[in-house]
Amino acid sequence: MPSPGNDPKRSDEVSALIGAHLQSGGSSFDFLIRRTPDPIFDVIQDYEHDPKPDLSTRPDAAPGTAKVNMSTGVNLGEHGEPALYNMQSVRKAMCIYAQRFESAFQAAQDGNYSWLPDFLGYLPTSGHAGFCAVSESLLFGKNSTLRDAGRICTIQTVGGTGALAVGAAFLRSRAAFGDVQGPLFTGPIYTSDYGWPNHRLTFETLGFEVEEYPYYDTRNHSVRFDDLKSHLLTAPAGSVFVLQLSGHNSSSFDFTRAQWIELAEIFSHRPGEVIPFFDAAYAGLKDGYAQDSWPLRHFADRGIDFLVAHSFSKSLESYGFRLGTLSLVRGTGSQPLTGAPAYLSEAQRVATIAIDQLKTVLADGASRALVSNCPRMGAELVEIIFTTPALRDLFDKEVAAKAERCKQMRIAFTDYMAKLGFPEFDYVRHGSVMFALLDDITPDDGPRLRELGLHMFRNRLVIPRLNDVTLPFVCKVIAQVLREKRAASGGPDLDSLPQ
Ligand code: PLP
Repeated sequence: MPSPGNDPKRSDEVSALIGAHLQSGGSSFDFLIRRTPDPIFDVIQDYEHDPKPDLSTRPDAAPGTAKVNMSTGVNLGEHGEPALYNMQSVRKAMCIYAQRFESAFQAAQDGNYSWLPDFLGYLPTSGHAGFCAVSESLLFGKNSTLRDAGRICTIQTVGGTGALAVGAAFLRSRAAFGDVQGPLFTGPIYTSDYGWPNHRLTFETLGFEVEEYPYYDTRNHSVRFDDLKSHLLTAPAGSVFVLQLSGHNSSSFDFTRAQWIELAEIFSHRPGEVIPFFDAAYAGLKDGYAQDSWPLRHFADRGIDFLVAHSFSKSLESYGFRLGTLSLVRGTGSQPLTGAPAYLSEAQRVATIAIDQLKTVLADGASRALVSNCPRMGAELVEIIFTTPALRDLFDKEVAAKAERCKQMRIAFTDYMAKLGFPEFDYVRHGSVMFALLDDITPDDGPRLRELGLHMFRNRLVIPRLNDVTLPFVCKVIAQVLREKRAASGGPDLDSLPQ
């Protein structure tokens, strides 16, 4: 059946109706329809409107008498406190920054304002150079040869989402490729199933066609690697593949090293046709930066062109600072475009230019158009952390502690569910970083889960939201809903199992 949009008769009717409405003094905006920006925000609203007390104020409450917020993926500490509270590296950097600002401010009393731009001025369109260097060293190693070989450039972005948006916009922009018909990545953009809903929203808003590739095998709790490979081999030229680097949101199951090697092999055979776009939103939080970013170095070694969106939101607990970077990695160093006709414009000769110029093309071509300049302060804090050895040490330890806490809570959840008679959740202990998708919990269970006090996005558990208080409550709610469902479908009587 045609939609009103492509049924000429209906779209004429709609146009006539809108025309009449505007003629009679109505506003164009009367026709706006609220599209849920991201379904996760509905979970937060439901939680806020639930009149039950939060479990933290009634730690011994039974299911149905308190509520728990299991919405966004944020790191919380052992007592449900925001993890930023525990990130001393960030707090100390803030203090250093405040002191520097104060001393500079005092200098203004002597009429010296030259410091002002260093704190309050615009950054260049490519962002804060020191911050970008930190991001590169985390992803590619401190002494990466890529930079010297002219193969990598990094710009600052507004969080990881900004990096995804700027990267995608750049790939299809004329600023990047001029009128060259060759290596244009105009889409589709492929993102994984059971993935992060905002990928689709971001890329569709930029006008891309977005497709899903098969990723999560719900039965075996692993990656549907063969299905994914067929997609990659047959995707049309111009396709972009978004690959989550580690801690896959939402399945929590990542590619193995052997699978990354196979993927690199396929990409290396389709240069200019399909391009990987890595999403490094949870880098460092699985097994540390060096391990988690290994696939990037492997792809670079294989001579593959790719992009990386790196978010600092989770590793630094700095969600509101909106810290991210976009790196562009060239499969080879700068090479002259052999036989380039004289009429090609400078933009069209981009492949031949030095990496610093490429960085300018990236920044001025897409970032400038979308956000103009990135925020300065958070970037300064990161530079302080990474140029102060004691803070750098602290940062490493704190990231490791968060990773360890997630691992421990996975085990605790699995054990508790087994104790309640549900050993089938054993797979949860094998997932990575923040999330777990709960088998047998479906969107239809939402109302009952909420009634019992669990406000969760579909069946997605946020592991660091579990602690000594929330874990037993959450497990009991899940167990109760599963028991009720199984009893209703005539399954085995699970009421005899431990409660
Ligand atoms: N990519 C994935 C998979 C994410 O889960 C997130 C955040 O939750 C992001 C990107 C974006 O991160 P940021 O908050 O820095 O924009």
